[in-house]
Amino acid sequence: VMRSLLKKGQVPLQVRHMCYSSSVPTTKLFINGKFVESKTSEWLDIHNPATNEVIARVPKATQEEMLAAVDSCSQSYHSWSETSILARQQIFLRYQQLIKDNIKELAKSITLEQGKTLADAEGDVFRGLQVVEHTCSITSLMLGETLPSITKDMDTYTYRLPIGVCAGIAPFNFPAMIPLWMFPMGMVCGNTYLLKPSERVPACTMLLAKMLQDAGMPDGTLNIIHGQHDAVNFICDHPAIKAISFVGSNQAGEYIYERGSKNGKRVQSNMGAKNHGVVMPDANKETTLNQLVGAAFGAAGQRCMALSTAILVGEARSWLPELVDRAKALRVNAGDQAGVDVGPLISPQAKERVNSLIQSGVDEGAQLLLDGRNVKVQGYENGNFVGPTIICNVTPQMKCYTEEIFGPVLVVLEAESLDDAISLVNNNPYGNGTAIFTTNGATARKYTHKVDVGQIGVNVPIPVPLPMFSFTGSRGSFRGDTNFYGKQGIQFYTQIKTVTSQWKAEDSTVKTPAVSMPTMG
Ligand code: NAD
Repeated sequence: VMRSLLKKGQVPLQVRHMCYSSSVPTTKLFINGKFVESKTSEWLDIHNPATNEVIARVPKATQEEMLAAVDSCSQSYHSWSETSILARQQIFLRYQQLIKDNIKELAKSITLEQGKTLADAEGDVFRGLQVVEHTCSITSLMLGETLPSITKDMDTYTYRLPIGVCAGIAPFNFPAMIPLWMFPMGMVCGNTYLLKPSERVPACTMLLAKMLQDAGMPDGTLNIIHGQHDAVNFICDHPAIKAISFVGSNQAGEYIYERGSKNGKRVQSNMGAKNHGVVMPDANKETTLNQLVGAAFGAAGQRCMALSTAILVGEARSWLPELVDRAKALRVNAGDQAGVDVGPLISPQAKERVNSLIQSGVDEGAQLLLDGRNVKVQGYENGNFVGPTIICNVTPQMKCYTEEIFGPVLVVLEAESLDDAISLVNNNPYGNGTAIFTTNGATARKYTHKVDVGQIGVNVPIPVPLPMFSFTGSRGSFRGDTNFYGKQGIQFYTQIKTVTSQWKAEDSTVKTPAVSMPTMG
C-alpha cells in the first residue's frame, strides 16, 4: 500500500499508526527495518498545539528495545559500510525524490504536531531536503588526498572511512530539517544510525524513515527509538555508539556533550541562541522592518536562528512605531488555517514561560510596546497562542535579554554607534546567528569581521547556510569542534586512514635495521 501511495506522491500520516487498537494512535519504534509497537508501560501524550487535544502517544522505549535497536545498527554496520559508494549514492538519489514528492504530506504532519504554519512546515522539509540532495554528491565529498613522491618511490594517500554506529538526538522545532541534518549525512558516509526524535514531534521522522526504507536503505541501518532522559543516557553510554549529533537546548546539550565525550564519543552539540539584528540608520527602511518582523515572529519565534533581539543604532530608533504596526498586522491562527502568519507555541508550559518572561521585562522597567499575551484565536481557544510582542528600553541585565525566550517576542535595545552594537553582541554569551541591515559596505564589512558569532547575515535576516557550507554556530551556542553538514559534517562522520607506501623499481634490499626515527628523506 505504502509503495503505491508513494508512487502517487502520497504518504499516509498513519505510518506510525499502523496496527493500533486504542483510540489514540501510537508512535512505533523502528527496529531492524520494522515499525513495531513498544512493550513499554510508559507513554507520553502528543498534543496538537493549536487545540491541546491529544493526537497520539509516544513510548518511552524499554532498555531491551533500545538494546535491540543499537544491536541492529551494529549488525548492519559491516555490510553497509562496505556497500559501494555508488550504491549508497543511488539510495539517496531516490530518497531526495521521495521527499520532494511527499513534501505536502510531511508538512501536514509537522503542522499537526508542532503547530507551525503549513508554508513554514514546507520550508522545514525543504531545508532538510537540501541536505539530502547534498549527500548525493558523496562521490566527491568523501574523496581523500594523495601526495605522490613524498620521497623517492614513496607515496602517501588518505582514505575517508565511516566510524561505526552514530546517533542523533533532535529537538521539537524542526521535525524534518534537523533529523535530516543528522542521519543522511551519517549514513551516506557508510555509518549506521540510531535516531531519537523529539518526543513531542516524532511523526514526521517516522514518515522520513519509511521513505528511506522505500528508497532502498537496507534493514537495520537506521533504527529509531523514542523517549526522554533514559533514551538520551542510553545513547551517551552505549559503547557501540561512536558519535552523537545533538540539537536542542543548552541544558540538554551541555549535559550530552559532557557525558558522551567522557565515554570517548565524538559529540557535536548545537544549542540555544539570542540572535541580534543590528539596524543601521542608513538601511533600506521598508525592507529592513519587514525582514526583522518576519525573522522575529516567523515560526512563533521558535527557531534557533530567529532574530529575537533588535539593536536600533542612532536614528533607526525612530522606526519603532512602524515596526510595531507591521508586527500588529500579522495574523495569529492555527497553522493549517488560510492566511496565518504566526501559529501556536509547542505547549502550555512554553506559553506560560514566554508570558512570564514578558512580564519580567515589564517588572524590570522595560516598556511593552506590543503585548501578545491575551491574543484570542476564534475556534482555537485552548491553543498555546501568544501574539507578536515587542519590548523596548531593554537593557542587557534584564532577564528577557539574558534568557532565550523562544517565542514571538522581539526585545529592542538601542545603541549610539556601530561599535556599541558590536560590543553588545560580543558580550552576549551566545554565538549562533546575527544580521546587520545597512547600505554601507564598509559598515557591513566591519561588522562581519568584528562580531564573534558563527553565522552572519548582511541584509539577510536568517543566514542558515546551505549544505555545501556548514551550520557554524559558535561560543555558547555550540560545543564540539566539527559543525553540522557540509565539509565539517563529512569530517564529523568519518575518520581518516593515512597510507604511506614505497614501491621501489630497482632492487634495493634494506641491508641493516634503521633504528633511528625515519625521516623519509
Ligand atoms: P530540548 O533540549 O528540550 O530537547 C532536545 C532533545 O533533548 C530532545 O530529544 C529531548 O528529549 C532531549 N532532552 C530534553 N531535555 C533533556 C535533558 N535535561 N537531558 C537530556 N536530554 C534532554 O530542546 P527543545 O525544546 O526540543 O528545542 C528548543 C531548543 O533547541 C532551543 O534552545 C533552540 O535554540 C535549540 N535549537 C538549536 C538549534 C541550533 O542549531 N543551534 C536548532 C534548533 C533548535
